Amino acid sequence: PAAMRWLAEVMEVTQLQAEISEAVGRITALLDSARQYSQLDRAPYRQIDLRELLDSTLTMLKRKFGEGVTVKTVYDETLPPVPVYAAELNQVWTNLIVNALYAMQGSGTLTIRTARENDSALVEIGDTGVGIPEENLDRIFTPFFTTKPVGQGTGLGLDISWRIVADRHGGDIRVESLPGDTRFQVLLPLTEPAADEPDQ
Ligand code: ADP
Repeated sequence: PAAMRWLAEVMEVTQLQAEISEAVGRITALLDSARQYSQLDRAPYRQIDLRELLDSTLTMLKRKFGEGVTVKTVYDETLPPVPVYAAELNQVWTNLIVNALYAMQGSGTLTIRTARENDSALVEIGDTGVGIPEENLDRIFTPFFTTKPVGQGTGLGLDISWRIVADRHGGDIRVESLPGDTRFQVLLPLTEPAADEPDQ
């Protein structure tokens, strides 16, 4: 019986070892993909022509525009390439344009403008929609702040956009809004930010 107990214990330990080694395997795979993911994130940091980025976002969103929306682009041809994480910035343009379309409820003009402002590139996304009441201007970048009906807005779009522009690119977002004239201005430094350190 003692030998049997010993055998049972050995088998239990072996089973435990197998489970531990399987768990370690799974954690290793998870860490691997997390590492790849963050490298992927960093890889696209490169000098890029903003027109290219904006045009590709517009092409991607074209089907959402509807007949009543006119799109105007006014690009500064002399603007030099800007060092950016292209995929992340496409997310910013997407968030801002989808908000603009929502504010126009199917009809109006979406204006995308680029310009140089001191040592930054400026991208302005303007719409002729309802506008943002003054009392909301301070709150729109707060996570989960939304005026959209339940299920239609997460209130995260501007929070995420802000993080991408400010934390990842060392830039800034400004907003000016009157009924019929809302402008989101994204400023991106033309020099590479020193902030590109791995997250802690
Ligand atoms: P969501 O779009 O999910 O509501 P956002 O963070 O993108 O989340 O936007 C927060 C709020 O800011 C919107 O619900 C809306 O009230 C306001 N907003 C953002 N962009 C515009 C715009 N172009 N015109 C009017 N209101 C806007």
